[in-house]
Amino acid sequence: LFITFEGPDGAGKTTQVSLLAEYLEKRGFEYITTREPGGTVISNKIRQILLDPEHIELKDQTEILLYASSRAQLVHEVILPELEKGKIVLCDRYIDASIAYQAFGLGIDRKTVEGINRFASSNVRPDRTYLLDISPELGRKRLIGRTQGEFREQLDRIEQRELEYHQRVYQGFMKLAEEEPNRIIKIKADQPIEQIFQQIKSDFDSFLQS
Ligand code: C5P
Ligand code: MG
Repeated sequence: LFITFEGPDGAGKTTQVSLLAEYLEKRGFEYITTREPGGTVISNKIRQILLDPEHIELKDQTEILLYASSRAQLVHEVILPELEKGKIVLCDRYIDASIAYQAFGLGIDRKTVEGINRFASSNVRPDRTYLLDISPELGRKRLIGRTQGEFREQLDRIEQRELEYHQRVYQGFMKLAEEEPNRIIKIKADQPIEQIFQQIKSDFDSFLQS
């Protein structure tokens, strides 16, 4: 069982991944959690190249291929082997993010991005996807919040892009959800964390039964 979490920056994906993991733990399921870009030593090196705000010269083509490379390594080194052992795999972002961020966001031909990712992933697809739906405006506010206070985080190269870019990304996610309503479960992310999780949990429970 392969489950992914998607949504704009600041939607709270990472929190929900840990809550679902905790729940799986309690129920005694075998599972792993991972994230993109990253999840392996090699993929984490690629992540650093992608997200370094100083890499202003990084080209769109390079960006697309590097996200796909990070994914290729993660799929073949971690996701596939773990699925083959019968484990549940929870992944923070996957191919939908590349359609939203690279195809819709950058304005690159969608078929091209899909083809590259089909190759990179050996066509391994998620069984279920939780799309945390937050407006790019509110997502941005939350991100800015993270750059302040005690555990200051810097905005990465992608997060730093203008609001219009993030609005295109958002539209991309909404389009994907519309196209695949049986896989992609859209959840309003401007609610309390616990309420968001209740919806994910109840969908997950009924999905397991089906
Ligand atoms: O999920 P997380 O915020 O850790 O992702 C790291 C960064 O990579 C984010 O800024 C996200 O917007 C960006 N990203 C992207 N294209 C993808 C996946 C992530 O631009 N396919
Ligand atoms: Mg982010």
